[in-house]
Amino acid sequence: MAGNVPLYKYRALLLSQNFFIKDNAAELRLHAHKYDFDMGFFSEVSEFVAAVESDTGNGLFVIDLDALHNMQSDMLDSRKTLMLGELLQRLPAGREYVYLQSSRQGGRYLLQQKLVDSHCLAYAEKPIANDVLVDKLFNLFVQQKRGELVRIVHLGDPAGLDENCLRQARIELVAHDQAQTLHLRVRELQPDMVLVSDLEFARTDSLARVLKKNIEADPVREIVLLQRQPDAILMQCALASGFDAVLPAADAELLCAQLVSRASKIRISKDLIAKDRATGLLNKVGLQKRARELIRQAAREERPLAFGVIDIDKFKTINDTWGHYFGDIVIKRLAVCLASHLGERDLLSRFGGEEFVVVFWDCTLEQGWRRLDAMRQAFGALPFEIRPGDVRRFSFSGGMAAYPTYQTENALFVRADAMLYEAKQGGRDRVCPLPAISS
Ligand code: GH3
Ligand code: MG
Ligand code: MG
Repeated sequence: MAGNVPLYKYRALLLSQNFFIKDNAAELRLHAHKYDFDMGFFSEVSEFVAAVESDTGNGLFVIDLDALHNMQSDMLDSRKTLMLGELLQRLPAGREYVYLQSSRQGGRYLLQQKLVDSHCLAYAEKPIANDVLVDKLFNLFVQQKRGELVRIVHLGDPAGLDENCLRQARIELVAHDQAQTLHLRVRELQPDMVLVSDLEFARTDSLARVLKKNIEADPVREIVLLQRQPDAILMQCALASGFDAVLPAADAELLCAQLVSRASKIRISKDLIAKDRATGLLNKVGLQKRARELIRQAAREERPLAFGVIDIDKFKTINDTWGHYFGDIVIKRLAVCLASHLGERDLLSRFGGEEFVVVFWDCTLEQGWRRLDAMRQAFGALPFEIRPGDVRRFSFSGGMAAYPTYQTENALFVRADAMLYEAKQGGRDRVCPLPAISS
């Protein structure tokens, strides 16, 4: 093996005594290896702390609180058990930890409070099955911190809205100054939230109704009235006329905080509708909507798009040989592998079971082929350790089509799917149509 190239991509360091997890160290490690991460076991706080400190950024740090029962305090003159506070204090700052606690510990509110306030990335309650724990740890590794952009259209005097603060929370603010054309702007931009100042509402009280009664209106969209000073009557009128909420607008910082918190709820609702729970990628509904938007944008800016369909090869055999659960792991790791090859404006979807769709922005058929083929090679190189020492690799086939040759999301899909069929017929582990060989 090459000197210092690690075999696994990620590493979880676990501080634990033998009550629970260490008994199953081998099983836990095997589960982790399937997901391409390794586990390091520690029973001494000082060794664990040293390992955390020397970690270069690929690690996840897990502490089994039962470890406390068996650990001695470091103070030489005392033989008493290590206290939680002391343990937490000794953990290197600037890192976040996953705490495993018993359900008895979980029932004590003060303990919970102490944990979540102590650089807590997440906590879990035991007993927790090894495969479940590993799956959750994997999700923590791949969780993308960057949320989707939330768009707000604002009607009225924009004073009091701090655009910088909103931008940091990935909220885009678009000002609009005409009440009469607000519904057109909303139709064009499809914002997640519409803010209307109380002055505008006083002039035109039908604003929210006009936006909401449109048969195509997005049901998740929030229409919010901004009120400069408390006025119960105005608030009642607003709620009765279709507004979802009334927010005080006098204090810019407070307003920003409220909008940020509402935006994160909107993000969650949108994710539930448009994303696949297992992989975090767009689902079919989400992909279709976003692909149509991207096609409109490509038409406006006269850019090409490349559309790819991916299907794992011989997946039934994978399921039949190693079980459905292992099949799911293959799907998740393919998702992570594909996602790491995406540009800012590209789309990636888990379209169905083991089928994925990618859309490359500003990309021709030939460029798209190269990019999808690079993904194919990257996935083909991923090692899956089935049993200690038994490493397998898998493959997928892909089909491509491009805009503007094919003009709609459906036409692109049908063509790319036909090319996928050709790739399967041609022997799998390839992307079709193969680019013409130029001499
Ligand atoms: P081919 O190379 O021709 O694609 O062969 P294949 O065996 O992969 O055939 P196909 O694509 O038709 O098989 C898809 C199988 O994937 C069928 C189904 O049992 C399985 N499957 C679908 N969704 C899931 C899932 O979410 N998890 C798991 N483990 N299996 C799934
Ligand atoms: Mg399939
Ligand atoms: Mg398949």
